[in-house]
Amino acid sequence: MPEGDTVHRAARRLHAALVGRRVLRFVFQHPGIEGTLEGGVVADVRARGKHLLIDLSDGRSLHSHLRMRGSWHVYAPGEPWRHPPTRMSVAILATTEGLSDGAPPTRTIAVGFDLATARIVRGDGALPALGPDLLEAAFDVDEAVRRLRSESACPLGVALMRQALVSGIGNVYKSELLFLERLDPFGPVGAHDEAALRALIERGRVLLARNLGPGPRVTRRGEGGRLWVYRRSGEPCFVCGELVRMRRQGEDGRSTYFCPSCQGVR
Ligand SMILES: [Zn+2]
Repeated sequence: MPEGDTVHRAARRLHAALVGRRVLRFVFQHPGIEGTLEGGVVADVRARGKHLLIDLSDGRSLHSHLRMRGSWHVYAPGEPWRHPPTRMSVAILATTEGLSDGAPPTRTIAVGFDLATARIVRGDGALPALGPDLLEAAFDVDEAVRRLRSESACPLGVALMRQALVSGIGNVYKSELLFLERLDPFGPVGAHDEAALRALIERGRVLLARNLGPGPRVTRRGEGGRLWVYRRSGEPCFVCGELVRMRRQGEDGRSTYFCPSCQGVR
């Protein structure tokens, strides 16, 4: 599953490429699509949690979800695609023709590859309920903490990825954040007090925001690597030297990386 910052980055790129342009052609191979975006003018591109919405000024939106493999690319006409066309879920050819006042018209192509979800909706009504989004300016930390605590028996590493509780955290940030806050991913949410959960959420917000720019995802600065524990099982912890471990958790068996010593995992 992509992290919230991946989706927000994609939304920013698409926003710059599409907003204010008219959809000249809309082609798709995704079975979830019914209808078309052709003729509409793009009014906004938004990330909501891990969902990405391309809104037209007439109320139609393209709702997409990247899941594990999905991505959005922006191309100039004629530019070769970085993935084969067989992996294309949707492609949008957008133009300023008829919209720009005097400036030469330009065309842009946005291509969604391997999208898990792609469908045309009206408004936000069709989206699943999401918890507060860590990357939203109006993020409500109290509400996020309240929602997490409502699942007091759920293992913390599982709860942190439940997008209905707090949205934006994927597998990488889950492991990194729990390590940074020295919290046991396998213990129940209820074992931690409100202050600890608040610190965890606030750090998540800082880390995701810091990674919105281009370049690789970084949670750690210094020699040896840019991540503290993620995909480092069998390697020594940067803090204490004990070997980092990986254990799967949750219904879908997502990998959680941790330092048994720093995080008090038995
Ligand atoms: Zn350690």
